[in-house]
Amino acid sequence: MGVIGVFNCENAAELVYYGLHALQHRGQEGCGICTTDGSDFFRERGEGLVTEIFNEKKLAKLKGNGAIGHVRYSSGDDGGLENVQPFLFRHHTGDFAMAHNGNFVNSRQLRMALEAQGSIFQSSSDTEILAHLMKMNRRRDRIEAIEEALNMIEGAFAFLILTNEKLYVCRDKNGLRPISIGKINGGYVVSSETCAFEAIGATFVRDVEPGEMVIFEKEKEPLSILFSEESSHKMCAMELVYFARPDSEIENVNVHTFRKNCGKYLAQLAPVKADLVIGVPDSSISGAIGYAEESGIPYEIGLIKNKYIGRTFIQPSQILREKGVRLKLSPVRSLITGKRVILLDDSIVRGTTCKRIVKMLKDAGAKEVHVRICCPSMHHPCFYGVDTSTYNELISAQKDVEEVRKTIEADSLFFLPEEYLLKAGNRNDLCLACYNGKYPTHLYQSKIDFNIEHKF
Ligand code: 5GP
Ligand code: SF4
Ligand code: MG
Repeated sequence: MGVIGVFNCENAAELVYYGLHALQHRGQEGCGICTTDGSDFFRERGEGLVTEIFNEKKLAKLKGNGAIGHVRYSSGDDGGLENVQPFLFRHHTGDFAMAHNGNFVNSRQLRMALEAQGSIFQSSSDTEILAHLMKMNRRRDRIEAIEEALNMIEGAFAFLILTNEKLYVCRDKNGLRPISIGKINGGYVVSSETCAFEAIGATFVRDVEPGEMVIFEKEKEPLSILFSEESSHKMCAMELVYFARPDSEIENVNVHTFRKNCGKYLAQLAPVKADLVIGVPDSSISGAIGYAEESGIPYEIGLIKNKYIGRTFIQPSQILREKGVRLKLSPVRSLITGKRVILLDDSIVRGTTCKRIVKMLKDAGAKEVHVRICCPSMHHPCFYGVDTSTYNELISAQKDVEEVRKTIEADSLFFLPEEYLLKAGNRNDLCLACYNGKYPTHLYQSKIDFNIEHKF
């Protein structure tokens, strides 16, 4: 999921709209924008891509100098319009809108406690829980109320809260989800990824720190508050490996450079004689370039992705699939026939996509396919909003590397070790829980939900 907010800028909705286009890779199921003109809120949202949901007429309705936007994919919670953000809350102390990226691990406990006190929820989304927590305690000071509520949440979050006067940005104490601040036209913009800053002509200022809340208010300097003293830097490694766009800078690391380094280390650790290196578009192109550069084996565009297949794409029937109809990804046959290919991919989750790609390359005449994965093997589910499945579905939780290699029918397979992943980003502080099971937070009921107690 991705969030973006613009504060104290004319045409705030338009800027958020273009920003959401730049964040579209983070979620394609739904999107929305909510604005304020200082006295009223305006909102448009729907299920689909940003181009499908918004048009000039709808944007014209989104008045005001403050706006927040969201792109979503479902991760645990149900689909449906009621879960499409931003959420808008009406309250006698002042209306407010919220957008959130991440996932709580104690949402069930919080929900039950809130319902016992009389809260009624409209959606199954975690975002609504924060709204209720904020309003549950009777403190008059809003900042204190938000701080207290944030400290009751365990898990991953980058939150935007828009009121008639202010924009609040909050990042969880482990910094699991990234969020950055930029400047634009005398106002401010905050975004899950810095690629949105480039898109709208904003300049990067800094990242929001783990456990920090930044408050933007007209004619005032932004106010920074540390709501948690236990902050640590455990940003999600998969943000760098898979989610983010290569042109984004996350915590001072350029995503393309990071992935290129991963490819470079794979070439050093797992060399193999081959004729060309290819990457699975889009997230593994940088890794393939790094591998090729380091090994001296030429990089080729061996796979082409059709970029125009949206949510409404009609999947080919089983019969057509067996006949070889696959429209999302196609091999460049003349490059591949008779060649020994090194295939870079970002990660293996279930192994089904990877197996399909290896087969596609072999069907196109590849003599050998050597798979190199730009992150460690995934043995544990994610509870922080990334859809990496349950133990039963994670192929590496079930099989060792040789068994995975056999399953995907590759000639060789190698996963990048953890220490090289950290080295690629020049850091020693990422969440690596889906590889090593060291979760940076308590897990509460999540273990039971996933039926995996025996694994701990
Ligand atoms: P598999 O080969 O395990 O079936 O699929 C892995 C591929 O799915 C990855 O290369 C990645 O590009 C893509 N993918 C889609 N959604 C996710 C996600 O939420 N997490 C990860 N790690 N990969 C994903
Ligand atoms: Fe990211 Fe994995 Fe940690 Fe989830 S468990 S936040 S996917 S690194
Ligand atoms: Mg992929």
